[in-house]
Amino acid sequence: MRAFVQRGFGVGAVAPETVADPTPGPGELVVQVRACALNRLDLLQEIAPVVRGFSLPHIAGMDVAGVVVARAADLPDDVGPPIGARVMVDPVSTCGICARCTTGNAPYCEDLRTVGSTRPGGFAELVAAPADRTYELPGSMSFVDAATMPVAAMTAYHALEAGGHVPGEVVLVNGAASGVSCALLTLLLADGSTVITTTGGTEKVARALAAGYHHAIDRNADDIPAAVAMVTGGRGVDLVVDHVGPALFRESIASLAIGGRMVFCGTTTGPEATLSLTDVYHWGRSLIGAGGYLAEDFPKMLAAMAATGRAPVIDRVWPFDRLLDAQQCMRDGAFFGKIVVEL
Ligand SMILES: [Zn+2]
Repeated sequence: MRAFVQRGFGVGAVAPETVADPTPGPGELVVQVRACALNRLDLLQEIAPVVRGFSLPHIAGMDVAGVVVARAADLPDDVGPPIGARVMVDPVSTCGICARCTTGNAPYCEDLRTVGSTRPGGFAELVAAPADRTYELPGSMSFVDAATMPVAAMTAYHALEAGGHVPGEVVLVNGAASGVSCALLTLLLADGSTVITTTGGTEKVARALAAGYHHAIDRNADDIPAAVAMVTGGRGVDLVVDHVGPALFRESIASLAIGGRMVFCGTTTGPEATLSLTDVYHWGRSLIGAGGYLAEDFPKMLAAMAATGRAPVIDRVWPFDRLLDAQQCMRDGAFFGKIVVEL
């Protein structure tokens, strides 16, 4: 099969090759990839290993949508979709037998594996995946739309759950253009919430408003807490969902209402932030780490996204052969919404 294979580290370490087709291991099936979305982790792991268990050679691509073309011989008929089914793959799988898996902490499995991160991913014509974490696409959902969801929409859905979100809240979502933020927008607009976002520059502010955010704050030009206060009548937001990290940490907390919550689910600008304890305890605010999700959360996310009836925000769909050009757009920050390659 054709695949983009990483054999070293550094920009340029990924190149197209012809490699052996995967065969389904025990409990697995093989998906013919029809679309796969890009994620920042793809680029980070091209530079250096990020996730424990990463190894070379590596095929990235965590957001797989396609058609089942093979199933392991040991697989019971009622486990996983049949051959010919249109599917998407939950990239995460857990061992089921470690101390954490057997004590209700499966999201923190000691042998957690991720398609496209610690096992071969979807920047290839074929990918093997656990059958019990592969799901049929609802209705007429396209492969491209499906490929926008496994990482970004799952992160968004789980962050809202972890953050105790209730419909109709006023929510601040940092980083308007990212796939996670665009999935948050899709979910929040569908439940009647008011969505405020931050982004960099007047062009991205305009794109954010066009995408449906109710308010967009230019982080390069505006005082974020003051701008939030202005559009909330001085009250602040009920919830901040943040994956940006230290760059906007203090401003985000200062944008919360009395008793507001901030849930964080990413560290795009780094792993450490400075915190004013007063900003949190004095106003009865809560900081919440989103953590990992359970297997049963994935089909719930898929149903929730389908039920919104809204098309995902997609920057551009590239032909598979141009993956490296698509990745350069992500590297340059020249995108708004998910970037997808199609086979
Ligand atoms: Zn485990």
